[in-house]
Amino acid sequence: MNDALLEALRQQAAGGGSLEGTLAGMAGGDPALGLLSQMLAHREQTLTHDLETQQQEEERLAALARAGEEARQLEELRQLEEERRQAQRRARLERLRLRLEGLQAELAARQALLDDLALALGACPACWGEDPGCRLCRGRGQPGFVRPEAAAFRRLVAPALEAASFPTDPRTLVGRETPEPERRPL
Ligand SMILES: [Zn+2]
Repeated sequence: MNDALLEALRQQAAGGGSLEGTLAGMAGGDPALGLLSQMLAHREQTLTHDLETQQQEEERLAALARAGEEARQLEELRQLEEERRQAQRRARLERLRLRLEGLQAELAARQALLDDLALALGACPACWGEDPGCRLCRGRGQPGFVRPEAAAFRRLVAPALEAASFPTDPRTLVGRETPEPERRPL
């Protein structure tokens, strides 16, 4: 190996200068050195290109990983939001169910009271005489349609009559559709 080549290799090893540049300078008319210089230059190009390709691939993979992580986080958020909505729906349904139960109980109590009142007044408990298609009374079930049930009458009607203290004979009520109630002194 000649001295100039050795020196160029030393410089290259020490990190200074370009080997193929030095070789190209040294080559002069030497075809072997010229060829070696070209091969080195080509090799450097190839390595540089490979390195760039590898960096691009690493960046692409990193971007893919970031996108995957973001998608996973978005999916987690979506699931949390869905669970929150379902919990809200369940809570609202539970409130509605309780409200419905309360209304049903209230309705049943009112209906029972109305049934008792119909018994006390001898009225049809289904329609109070207001439904010509009623299977129980065919629309004739106003108060007095049947004999009032004694216990219910005593419980619900008699105290009201006593408090009102106006005659109960229908004949005496003619012309007194809206009698003035006269409360007896307590
Ligand atoms: Zn009826």
